Amino acid sequence: MSTTTETTLDQATRVAAAVIRQASHVVALVGAGLSAESGIPTYRGPDGLWTKFGEPTIDGWELFCEDPAGWWRLTIERRGDGGEFARAIDAAEPNAGHRAMADLEEMGHLAHIITQNIDNLHQRAGSRAVTEIHGNRTKARCMNCGWRGPLAAVPLIEPLPPLCHECGGVLKNDTVMFGEPIPPDALDECYRQAALADVFLVVGTSAVVYPAASFPVMAKRRGAALIEINPHETELSELADVIVRAPAGIALPAIVDTLRR
Ligand code: NAD
Ligand code: ZN
Repeated sequence: MSTTTETTLDQATRVAAAVIRQASHVVALVGAGLSAESGIPTYRGPDGLWTKFGEPTIDGWELFCEDPAGWWRLTIERRGDGGEFARAIDAAEPNAGHRAMADLEEMGHLAHIITQNIDNLHQRAGSRAVTEIHGNRTKARCMNCGWRGPLAAVPLIEPLPPLCHECGGVLKNDTVMFGEPIPPDALDECYRQAALADVFLVVGTSAVVYPAASFPVMAKRRGAALIEINPHETELSELADVIVRAPAGIALPAIVDTLRR
């Protein structure tokens, strides 16, 4: 298979569609770029929050481990003041790229999504087979038994921290913090999917956050084809068999259209 960096957008989407059509198990690794067209800023890349303002020093995980009740009190106090990023996520709607991924699943062309996004937009667009490797900001998670459920249903009143109704363990918001280990169930599912994939679709991720970036590399080593959808070059670009250098909201619907024809 040849790399198509030199070809036009139209040619690249047609090649991507042909590769997907022939595949038996397509897995997608998704990053913040997919939600950029929903108005949620990315961290990295030319318009990324960290590119503009520098990387934050965040010690949330340490704080939570030392004093979960204190962490919850601080979080409740700051609710409604999550800054530019939280406001953008609260206001976001799924975009054409999210909807195209749900269409691909519906059409039988996408087996599983591994997303690094925490914004819940895949589900709102209709995707079902989704592993959220960094959690979901609308959910809570039990640190003991792994139970996950809507954060809105957790009573955030004293005595804090809130406790799991299944096992009495301490609840945390589901978003995986810097330094926090990825929940083992999610990680196991990612490795399982990486072993099954014969095509890996890598969408809107700078592919520098591990272990997420290692799943397409693992699949590639086993012979899977890699399709990258990203307007900019990434760490994975040189491994990609097909590159669609365009925003996900344009490239993914174009691939769906080609597959429908
Ligand atoms: P990243 O910020 O490191 O990289 C974003 C990538 O998206 C860049 O490669 C950029 O070129 C690309 N991009 C920008 N616009 C695009 C578009 N329209 N279509 C396709 N690609 C586009 O993001 P990351 O790789 O996901 O890693 C950042 C971490 O931050 C993740 O682990 C995630 O948990 C978190 N995060 C989540 C959200 C969200 O939930 N929406 C947003 C920002 C960051
Ligand atoms: Zn529990």
